[in-house]
Amino acid sequence: MDWSDSPEQAKFRQEVRTFIQQKLPESYRPKAGEATGEDEGFTGGWQADRKSTDPKRVATAQQWATALAEQGWIAPAWPKEYGGAGLSTIEQFIYNQEMAEAAAPSVGGMGVSMLGPTLIVHGSPEQKQEHLSRILSGEVAWAQGYSEPGAGSDLASLQTRAVRDGDEYVINGQKIWTSGAHFADWLFALVRTDPEAPKHRGISFMIMDIKTPGITVRPLINMGWEHGFNETFFEDVRVPAKNLIGEENRGWYVGMTLLDFERSGIAGAVSYRRGMAEMKEFLKGNGKSYRRQDFNTTRLELADRAIETEVLFNFAFRIVTIQSRGLVPNYEASVNKTFGSELHQRLSRTQSKAWGLYANVWDRSSKYAPMQAAHIHDYVGSVPHSIFSGSNEIQRNVIATRGLGLPRG
Ligand SMILES: Cc1cc2nc3c(=O)[nH]c(=O)nc-3n(C[C@H](O)[C@H](O)[C@H](O)COP(=O)(O)OP(=O)(O)OC[C@H]3O[C@@H](n4cnc5c(N)ncnc54)[C@H](O)[C@@H]3O)c2cc1C
Repeated sequence: MDWSDSPEQAKFRQEVRTFIQQKLPESYRPKAGEATGEDEGFTGGWQADRKSTDPKRVATAQQWATALAEQGWIAPAWPKEYGGAGLSTIEQFIYNQEMAEAAAPSVGGMGVSMLGPTLIVHGSPEQKQEHLSRILSGEVAWAQGYSEPGAGSDLASLQTRAVRDGDEYVINGQKIWTSGAHFADWLFALVRTDPEAPKHRGISFMIMDIKTPGITVRPLINMGWEHGFNETFFEDVRVPAKNLIGEENRGWYVGMTLLDFERSGIAGAVSYRRGMAEMKEFLKGNGKSYRRQDFNTTRLELADRAIETEVLFNFAFRIVTIQSRGLVPNYEASVNKTFGSELHQRLSRTQSKAWGLYANVWDRSSKYAPMQAAHIHDYVGSVPHSIFSGSNEIQRNVIATRGLGLPRG
């Protein structure tokens, strides 16, 4: 396979590189000798910076958002008429790859990746007018309220109830695992509007200001002692009826909207490769004193992880090739998600193992922590990767039925 760029693609790649070189704020650039880490998405990154109490972090987040907004690159996949860059899937792939190479944080979070595309397809002109531009300027951040204590993989079982009352809906219930709700300004949620209808047909898609009276966001601390997600409670929350997206009771289909987003997961493959390279550099110098005594066995495992990382690159190329032909990846995306998330877990385990007992040092600033304890943090932080975005068991069901043609169990 020849994966090299065409002349136009090479030109675009150079454009992205030059932009990053000129505009990426200094504090977002990887520092020599420091690990860049692979897992900031749920607990930090740009969303956390913009709500930080440190004015420098806020200013940096704004500077990066402004630079991307001026270039029209906050939403690379959105059509141009809605303020996106309208990039083709191959261009998005190049853009995502280069941003990941530079460890540049993405801006806009779920507003860009989920709510925006949904509004573009299902929103009224007023809803688009009100919300899209505020996502594109990096002014408003969104959180997703889908999962509930009794509705995860079987999401259509959700029970949070919305009852129409004049020009408003009154919402009662609970969401869980609401990532970044503590940094978000607005929430999009699936709620039950018709409890009598078959479960997929009684659901509506609603948006609400997260500060609406009656909404309580409570932190859930994960096993890495980080605050990434929350429980979100609704007690007689009054939401204007104009915040319904699409038709009442059609929310399931509204929530499943996909735009022409590049879905290769290339950023993961890039960050694993970079993580290996950073580790290799460290091992040439200071890292020697942290190595476990029987390092040779880990060396072989690291070689396996390096090979698997290259396999992940090929899976990513496969997905983007399917998309660039105008097709929608099906079970192939499930293969990618399953292999990528499990590789992430294996990789961080192998990397941690290399340091023997030093791997247990959790404090990033400790002199006993190799590479600022990046690997042990990643070891813990990679656990949920096989749960979110469709658990790996669900992905395996897809591979078994749609990929292998096996009968449903
Ligand atoms: C880090 C993180 C961030 C998240 N962020 C958000 C967010 O922002 N907003 C949001 O709404 N949700 C979020 N979620 C929730 C996520 O979508 C759910 O955790 C996921 O859908 C699984 O649901 P569940 O946790 O209820 O597990 P369950 O669905 O109860 O599953 C439990 C176990 O049973 C398995 N299982 C379930 N059904 C089947 C089946 N049919 N066949 C085989 N095995 C099955 C699952 O794979 C899993 O191992 C997040 C989760 C995590 C871990």
